[in-house]
This record gives sequence, C-alpha cells and structure tokens, in this order.
Amino acid sequence: MRVAIFAENEKDLAELASAASIFAGREEMIEVSIAGEEKNISCCGRKVVYKLKGKQELNPEAISNVLRHVGEKYGISVFLLSTSKLCRAVASILSILTDTECITDAFDLSIEGKDVLASRGVFAGKATARLRCSIPCILTIKQGKYNPAEKVPCEVIYEDFTPPTKLNIVEVSEPQKASVDLKSARIIVSVGRGLKRKDDISMVEELAKALGAALGCSRPISSDLGWLPEEHHIGLTGVSVKPDLYIAIGISGQLQHLAGIKDSKIIAAINTDKSAPIFQACDYGVVGDMYKVVPELVKLLKSS
Ligand SMILES: Cc1cc2nc3c(=O)[nH]c(=O)nc-3n(C[C@H](O)[C@H](O)[C@H](O)COP(=O)(O)OP(=O)(O)OC[C@H]3O[C@@H](n4cnc5c(N)ncnc54)[C@H](O)[C@@H]3O)c2cc1C
Repeated sequence: MRVAIFAENEKDLAELASAASIFAGREEMIEVSIAGEEKNISCCGRKVVYKLKGKQELNPEAISNVLRHVGEKYGISVFLLSTSKLCRAVASILSILTDTECITDAFDLSIEGKDVLASRGVFAGKATARLRCSIPCILTIKQGKYNPAEKVPCEVIYEDFTPPTKLNIVEVSEPQKASVDLKSARIIVSVGRGLKRKDDISMVEELAKALGAALGCSRPISSDLGWLPEEHHIGLTGVSVKPDLYIAIGISGQLQHLAGIKDSKIIAAINTDKSAPIFQACDYGVVGDMYKVVPELVKLLKSS
C-alpha cells in the first residue's frame, strides 16, 4: 500500500518514515515537500514537491488540500504526519476533506486485517488507550517513539498545483526570544494561584535566585492573570519539564499541571491545604503559608 508522509523538519520526517515501514517498503513511500531545499535525498523512495505562493506553506488549509491532491493522484492509503501544531491542524482538516479516520499522537502501530491499531496517551499521559481505525487513514505520530530511518537518494517530482483555500496569511513574525529556558533547567521554582498579588512574584523570584533556579508557573498565573509571560507556563498546554528538583508553591496539582512535571526527579510542594492533590504527587511537602515558608527558606539559603 502507498503511504505519504509530511512533516516540517527532517528529524520528524525520518521518524515518520520509520513508522511508515509497517505499511510499505521505501519504494511505496512518498515524502510531500512544500517548503525548503529540494535535494534528491529522502527516507522515502519518492519526493513530490509543491512550491506554494506567498506564505501558504504555513497555511494548514492549503497544505491539507495539497495532501488531498497527493492522495488522489498517487493512490495514498495512509497519511503519516508529525505532531507539530501545524501538522495536527493539517491532519484534522484533511480528515474532514477526505472523510477519513484520524488518530493523533499515535505510537506502537500495528496492522490487523484492514485496520490499523495504535496507542495514544490519555488523561494527560496517565494512561494509554489502544485505538483501531480502518485503512485508509490519517495518523499523527508521537515524536521520539520511532528511530529515524536512514536517508538515501530518491526520485524528485515537481508538481504544479494551486491548492484552494479561503485563508490568507498576510504576515509572519518571529516569536520573541524566550527569556527562560525551563526545558533544560536543573531546578525550577514554580508558583500558582496561591500567590495573592502580582508584586509578590518578587518573593518567589528571590527563592529562585538563591537556588539558581528557573521560574515557572501554573497556567492561571500566565494565561489568566498575565502576571508572567506564557513561556513560564508549565503543564499539558505549556512546557514539559524534567528538572532534578521542582518546587511547586501555591499550586494545587491538577492533572493538567502534573502532566508537565511528571518527569521531574524530585518534586517538593508548599501549600496551605493539606488535601491538595499536589501532596499525592510530591516527594517532599510543606503544609504551610508560602508567605511565611518562602522568606524563611530564602533566609536559610542566604545564611548557609
Ligand atoms: C484544557 C486545559 C488545559 C490546561 N492546561 C494547563 C497547564 O498546562 N498547566 C496548568 O498549570 N494548568 C492547566 N490547566 C488548568 C488546570 O486545570 C488548573 O486550573 C490549574 O493548574 C490550577 O492552577 P493553580 O494550582 O495555580 O491554582 P489553584 O488550583 O487555584 O490552586 C491554588 C493553590 O494554592 C494554595 N494556596 C492558597 N494560598 C496559599 C498560600 N498562602 N500558601 C501556599 N499555598 C496556598 C491553595 O491551597 C491551592 O491548592 C488546564 C486546564 C484545561 C481545561
């Protein structure tokens, strides 16, 4: 059967090709290329290149229509995409355009008759669901689950096609450089809605400084209150972190927050409510008022 793969970077493409090998040999795999340099080298036997006008290479509706075109022209049975934001948007639009079943964040793929079986994390990664869908289908593949396939020379075909789209991208601007690097921080001090005022962030910052830690927060602090920039927000919809030490201050420990800190080596928590869920997830806990505990900790650290 024929498989088409689409991703925005080479690493993801190589992982997709590896996942695609359960459906097809390299000669039956097609890489769809929309932007970038077109070298005749790929993990797939063939590369089809679409040069889109303007900024349409960032337009999920245009890309979905390109993939639909590839599907019709090359008789594609399975589409594999990465799990980037753009690819997720493309997968959902393509699923509707072609009335085809779609599984997102899939891994552990297998084939059973005319069906595909795939696993995906559910409940913020606390459990894994096994799903079944019939071929033809669309799958977005969870990053890091497949070893990248090797690249070899491939055939390159240039296609002339203008995808229909109602969406026009008029301007693209680079995001501001992040001022905090939570992903590689060894210690993170993170604050939640236990904080009463924006100005009190300086108290938590002082603790972070004394520990040489990066400053993180729960979603309400950045997204709802706007007390810290979005790049500090940790959790399911924010950054996933894996520090040696994570200190959660005035954070209740909801599932969506825990999803982003579950790979921390040690979790410590300070919370006034002894029944807060964070105490089920932490290694060390202080039941107490952050406005008393944090200054005490800073004093101790400064004197030691
Ligand atoms: C689709 C979706 C995605 C989401 N994604 C995320 C995400 O990525 N990250 C995230 O964080 N949330 C996320 N949320 C929100 C999440 O459900 C919680 O609402 C949020 O994590 C709660 O933040 P919090 O713990 O700071 O606030 P609260 O739940 O209000 O907890 C505040 C805590 O502070 C304690 N406290 C109060 N005063 C003090 C004091 N003086 N000293 C010490 N402790 C004190 C309280 O006892 C309480 O436990 C998401 C929600 C949805 C629906």
